[in-house]
Amino acid sequence: MVKILVTGGTGLVGKTLKQYLPNAIYCNSRDGDLTYEGESYALIAKNKPDVVVHLAAKVAGMSSYQDNRIGHIEDNILMNTHILKASYLYGVKKFIAILSTCVYPDICSHYPMTEEDIHEGPPTSSFFEYAMSKRIMSSQIEAYNKYKGTNYNYLIPCNMYGQEDNFNGKAHFITDFMSKVYDAVTKHEEFVTILGTGNTLRQFMYAGDLASVIKYYIENDIKENVNVAYPYPMSINDIAKTILNVTGYKNIKIEHDLSKSDGQYRKDVSIEKLMKIMPDFKPTQLEIGVALTWASMITRKATEKWIY
Ligand code: NAP
Repeated sequence: MVKILVTGGTGLVGKTLKQYLPNAIYCNSRDGDLTYEGESYALIAKNKPDVVVHLAAKVAGMSSYQDNRIGHIEDNILMNTHILKASYLYGVKKFIAILSTCVYPDICSHYPMTEEDIHEGPPTSSFFEYAMSKRIMSSQIEAYNKYKGTNYNYLIPCNMYGQEDNFNGKAHFITDFMSKVYDAVTKHEEFVTILGTGNTLRQFMYAGDLASVIKYYIENDIKENVNVAYPYPMSINDIAKTILNVTGYKNIKIEHDLSKSDGQYRKDVSIEKLMKIMPDFKPTQLEIGVALTWASMITRKATEKWIY
């Protein structure tokens, strides 16, 4: 049986992937801090995987990101470099890294952007360091393939959400907004606040969709590195309205904190290349993903309240 090791196994994507690949080994920083070369090598040497899915990363929302920009470039470059090198040296056959659509230029001459556009201009200043660490990861993988003869891959997902996200208010927009709606409902408040104008366009993908693509890449021999995204960009305001509709709280009003920046206006990517490789890929409709995630969130919040 193929032995699969997943770094970042306790995050949103890792926990989601576990439902698709239950027999893989899921690690986090307690099993080995990948910013340390020795711990990274030990992790691979001990587990001897055939396949490494590299999810581990320092990830943050807009406000906490500002407090530690250097950490996001340093830690991510260290983690990526160590785990990739260790995988190569220990003969790992398949390595799949996860980038982010943040790697794309802040402004592009056309949308949706394709895989060829990565180096067309600097990434958004909002997440510049994180984005550069991911761009460098793509160059590292391409260099191993070119100079060491490997067939390693990277996937470029858009923003994600799902049942396994944390609902502590520090997650990405969809789960963060759901937490705010839940709080407003339980405290009998009329408003929820969106940071910025809400006019920015985003693609939000159900994390299970990325998990299904990772599984497909493990099971098939694929050379191309592709975008993985929900193909329909929407404004943050429209996504918020969809959440209110799906959860049945249409009466809650949205207000905007205009002292906060909007960030990059748009960064939508094409999934044409993915669809050629995986014609059966069916992105989960936003309304369905939101309903599943909301159900999971209220169950978890209710259980926490009952336990503590
Ligand atoms: P996440 O929920 O923040 O989880 C991060 C994972 O990385 C955790 O398991 C964490 O383990 C591990 N990790 C962090 N620092 C580590 C270290 N020094 N050594 C070893 N493990 C470490 O991340 P995610 O949302 O699942 O994202 C997975 C991947 O997808 C990341 O590469 C991210 O950049 C990318 N991505 C995510 C999104 C999104 O919307 N979530 C969008 C595009 C791309 P601990 O619990 O021990 O810290």
